[in-house]
Amino acid sequence: MASSQVASFMSEVPFLKETSRTAGRDALRKNINAAIALSSAVRSTLGPSGQDKLLLDDEGRTMVTNDGVTILESARVEHPIAKMLIQTSSTQDYIARDGTTSAVIITSELLQNAWRLIEQDIHPSVVIRGYASALKHCQSELVSLSFSVDDELMLQATHTSLAGKTHKAVQEHIAKLAVLGSKAIQEDDGHVVKCDPTRVKVITQTGGKMTDSEIINGLVLAKKPLSPKLPKTLIDGKIAIIDGGIENESHGLDMKIQVERVGVLEQFRQQDLKQLHEKVDTLISLGVQVVACREGIDDSIHSRFIDAGIHAYRRVARSDLDVLAKATKAVLVHQIEDLTEGDLGSFSESTSVHEGGVEHWILKTDGGAATFVARGSTDDVVAEVERCFADALGVACQLVEEPALVAGGGATHVALARSLRRYAETIPGREQLSVNAYADALEVIPRILAENAGLDPLDILIQVVAHQTEHEKGHCFAFDIENKALSNMVEQGIVEPLRISRQVMAGSTQAAISVLRIDDILWAKQEATIPDGLMDED
Ligand code: ADP
Ligand code: MG
Repeated sequence: MASSQVASFMSEVPFLKETSRTAGRDALRKNINAAIALSSAVRSTLGPSGQDKLLLDDEGRTMVTNDGVTILESARVEHPIAKMLIQTSSTQDYIARDGTTSAVIITSELLQNAWRLIEQDIHPSVVIRGYASALKHCQSELVSLSFSVDDELMLQATHTSLAGKTHKAVQEHIAKLAVLGSKAIQEDDGHVVKCDPTRVKVITQTGGKMTDSEIINGLVLAKKPLSPKLPKTLIDGKIAIIDGGIENESHGLDMKIQVERVGVLEQFRQQDLKQLHEKVDTLISLGVQVVACREGIDDSIHSRFIDAGIHAYRRVARSDLDVLAKATKAVLVHQIEDLTEGDLGSFSESTSVHEGGVEHWILKTDGGAATFVARGSTDDVVAEVERCFADALGVACQLVEEPALVAGGGATHVALARSLRRYAETIPGREQLSVNAYADALEVIPRILAENAGLDPLDILIQVVAHQTEHEKGHCFAFDIENKALSNMVEQGIVEPLRISRQVMAGSTQAAISVLRIDDILWAKQEATIPDGLMDED
């Protein structure tokens, strides 16, 4: 729509009067510019030679990171398209834990290539159709390029996900801990293997080296039992988890009691105590050995717990109760009155240990639970260790659930691009150009990996493509950035989970297609000035 037509259309439609509008090609061009601007903010962080970014927030706090999604999520971006892309990266992080930078870079490249076609008068819907069929082709091709995982490869894939983060020795250490953690929490019901990273509890300790970080089988909570007199260790028992307290409800209320007879108050107290005893009786009758609750436990019944031999832990954080419930397969109940046998969880060992001046409760379960103790010299270092572990654990868990890998370093992207170009030849018409544009976009990964290492991107890409074309098993070859040599990525241990690559492709293609579908931007008048200035870029 020409601008004069747009103006008259907007004055005719009452609700658009207070709205500014960019339509058609102009809108698309501006949106694509926003995507390019966003990806250029993270492209220099890609890969083992990626640079770090120093993030500074409102309160002057700093963070040094090269994690794509962390950088993007901390950017205060107003442009709706930039926000959509950040969402793609966040979704990638949520689903796959890795590949966040790659997803944004590929999306932006897909859009740039689409724009070139649109400039040649190819309609966006033709580009969209081509991209959708290219994605479909890649998804099935990815499976043929994948191979299964063994213990060694699992460690290497986890290690690859830490490329460019912290130091080599720390990467190796964290990768090992992440693999151990993922093995400790996996659940196999005979049909599906599940590995939920939230089953690993993380505790942080400032002081010590990063390589002092450790993984402990079981849940570790800095809690001491109500009574230190009970035996320190219990074997094979039942646990009740109460999302509340073991107190009298009346204690929490602002009550007034009008005493009219002598002894009424005492009667009232006795009644209270009786109710509390009944709560403990419920636990005893259900055969509970350990109880953990979010709030307090009334002083008057401490001795009942000791007599019954029940280990009680009070004031346990809600987040810890959730992890406990998952690990023991218990159901959280609000009050003991509601507790049934089916709500109880089980454990194989519950121990109290005194370590470093702090009492710790270690609970081991068959369902699997682990605790990661992040250590480092300062709070910032500990936070970095925590972030790296979360990424590595995410990758290890993906591999437990779907034990398949593809070659990294851009080898798979080049192999897919080659396969797409062969596939494009079978597609008639302009859609063929779109499939080829998709293939070109995938090659951005090996190009940027090389560029970030100070190498000539085109030279490297040509070498990789030539090698892959000339050798039968060439699809695993790419440029190893650390050893500066064209290598078999699988032999070098540069491998990535198939699931992550699949999600990168799907996420970035979907994001690019959504942007290409938009031909109209309506801005509420007050929003018309865009703080990041992306809208003004031509
Ligand atoms: P993302 O957020 O997309 O995961 P990263 O910065 O973690 O971005 O970079 C991941 C990319 O780096 C992957 O394509 C991976 O295969 C590649 N990579 C890791 N180590 C090497 C290496 N030694 N040589 C070449 N590429 C590598
Ligand atoms: Mg990564």
